[in-house]
Amino acid sequence: MHKILIVEDDETIRMGLKYFLENEHFEMMEASNIEEAKFKLDDQPDLILLDLGLPDGNGFDLFEMIRQHDHIPTIFLTAVDEEVSIVRGLDMGADDYVTKPFKARELLSRINNVLRRYHRKHDQNMIRIQNITIDLNGARVRKGDIDVMLTALEYRILLILGLHPGKVYSREQILADIWDTNEAFVNDNTLTVYIKRIREKIEDDPNNPKIILTVRGLGYKVSAHE
Ligand code: CA
Repeated sequence: MHKILIVEDDETIRMGLKYFLENEHFEMMEASNIEEAKFKLDDQPDLILLDLGLPDGNGFDLFEMIRQHDHIPTIFLTAVDEEVSIVRGLDMGADDYVTKPFKARELLSRINNVLRRYHRKHDQNMIRIQNITIDLNGARVRKGDIDVMLTALEYRILLILGLHPGKVYSREQILADIWDTNEAFVNDNTLTVYIKRIREKIEDDPNNPKIILTVRGLGYKVSAHE
């Protein structure tokens, strides 16, 4: 589970995002000013949502301070009249920014993009899909902190989809991909069964899947979010 620290003095925004992102399986930490935020950094957030105008200083200052000894992916939350100064933030190495008012969904997709980019760079051998981690080295799959036992074929199917979140794979593509690597006979019907079994192991509610999505008439895709 990824930890997000939100540094924002506007309580409505802070509480709204906390509620929304907790529902999206993030662990949330909050700070309403720079002093508080400094303490929260000890808990090692995976990402920071950083308001620029804070009561005890500027979000840039905190960002600069953090960057001196650590790289924590950061998305700035800016007001319209701060958009010009955001160039400075991006020059300093901020990962992204959103301008208020923004849609929570939009921010969520930015968060997921930033985290994906970051992990692709720093952790090539690990795929994270919501609360699922696939360790490519050990061919191990975990749901939160719990090991998920997948058969070789189930693992292979999850991997095909998980390597490219958002990309739709037709049933034929998946079948073609597992054809060489597996001796068991898999046809169109058994693929449905395999997908169902994987969902039973990794989804919170297999009847209402959030990780392996069926794209009607096209095939399947893994959703890293939403
Ligand atoms: Ca503010």
